Amino acid sequence: MKFADFSLDARLNGAIEAVGYETPTPIQEQAIPLVLSGRDVLGLAQTGTGKTAAFALPILQRLTSGPLRKVRVLVVAPTRELAEQIHQTFVDLGKNLRVTSTPIYGGVSKRPQLAALRRGAEIVVACPGRLLDHIGEGDIDLSNVEVLVLDEADRMCDMGFLPDIRRILKHLPSQRQTLFFSATMPDDIRSLSAEILDNPATVQIGMIAPAETVSHAIYPITEKLKNRLLLEMLKQTATGRVLVFTRTKRRARNLALLLVNEGYNASALQGNMAQNRRQESIDGFRDGKYDIMVATDIASRGIDVTEISHVINFDITDTVDAYTHRIGRTGRAEQSGDAFTFVTESDEAMVRDIEKVLGEPLERRRLPDFDYGDFVPERQTAIAQSQQNRPASNGNRRGGRNHLGGGGNRPPRSGGNSSRSGQRSWSGNPRQQRSPGTRRAG
Ligand code: AMP
Repeated sequence: MKFADFSLDARLNGAIEAVGYETPTPIQEQAIPLVLSGRDVLGLAQTGTGKTAAFALPILQRLTSGPLRKVRVLVVAPTRELAEQIHQTFVDLGKNLRVTSTPIYGGVSKRPQLAALRRGAEIVVACPGRLLDHIGEGDIDLSNVEVLVLDEADRMCDMGFLPDIRRILKHLPSQRQTLFFSATMPDDIRSLSAEILDNPATVQIGMIAPAETVSHAIYPITEKLKNRLLLEMLKQTATGRVLVFTRTKRRARNLALLLVNEGYNASALQGNMAQNRRQESIDGFRDGKYDIMVATDIASRGIDVTEISHVINFDITDTVDAYTHRIGRTGRAEQSGDAFTFVTESDEAMVRDIEKVLGEPLERRRLPDFDYGDFVPERQTAIAQSQQNRPASNGNRRGGRNHLGGGGNRPPRSGGNSSRSGQRSWSGNPRQQRSPGTRRAG
């Protein structure tokens, strides 16, 4: 299928060419005709599938006719970063049209947002809290909204935004098209979607199972050894852009500091940072000023950096969904990437849950030439597997195979779903040269 098959306005086809999209992604193939036909859509899709353009293109097509300077499209997103990213997609794809998009989110002054609303925008991309502020102050008229998009609805739910969403809905016309995107369908989200969607068409892409372009591996380790393991891994691995995830804001800040002290071009991205610092981090990561970004889950939502070669889960996630979201940051738009996860003994139950969703075991690896001291990664694996193989276990059929990538200081076998990364990152001489990507600053 080609973009030309959608019969979009020539100005949109020109913009698609300018941004370099050659063929529609699967979600675009499915969703664009449905949205163009005016149907409500329930999109079960994770980030990295091209879902933003899947709704932005047909929405822009709608805006090629009809009134200007009225808010006709409202997109609600959980984080400022995601709102910015969606706004930017509208700007890029709508650049040949006479339509304006305005992002609205907290953490920055209201005044420029108010000025932009007064000048008139057809598209508003908003986070719930600040949007409600503007609604409360009478700054924004939503009575002309023709299309509502709720993006990453599950994340909004996780962040406690559901009451805000319901408040916002009261200000919208009931006659409208609603597009509802979520990577997962917890009960709250299912009932919200049932309430607000009218006879929706469902589009499901790569539900839950992470993008296939990503290879996964886990590194059994102890909490104390994590810092050293990360430093050694960065030293040994030929990486491009690396996104490291930690469980807390504090750990993100401290780890970024450690990396900077070690001479890496690293930056943090966490919720305690002011919006301009966050944006500076994201821009710097995208533009190559930073090779490594250390982020928390929430802050990382909406990072639109396509060339992330490695996601390193310094701390494993609390849920399988969060794992899927994190590793959706690499292997985006059909590029390939590696996802490495540091796993302590107490993380093993989560590993089993992730493996169930992936449908296959994660390759276990030992980092060659790394001094593990008394800790034996293979032992952690053996204990985890023996617990799993007990009759009372949760039923994952992994059997007794040892998936540890290597023994002793031998380089690991490459195999399973990670063979490609095995070749690229670890096999042969473990002291591979660092690519220019992950250079040290000084
Ligand atoms: P999203 O899932 O909307 O976050 O998109 C993920 C990435 O894929 C973004 O960087 C988009 O610019 C890119 N993208 C979206 N559609 C296409 C396409 N048809 N071809 C190539 N890249 C795309």
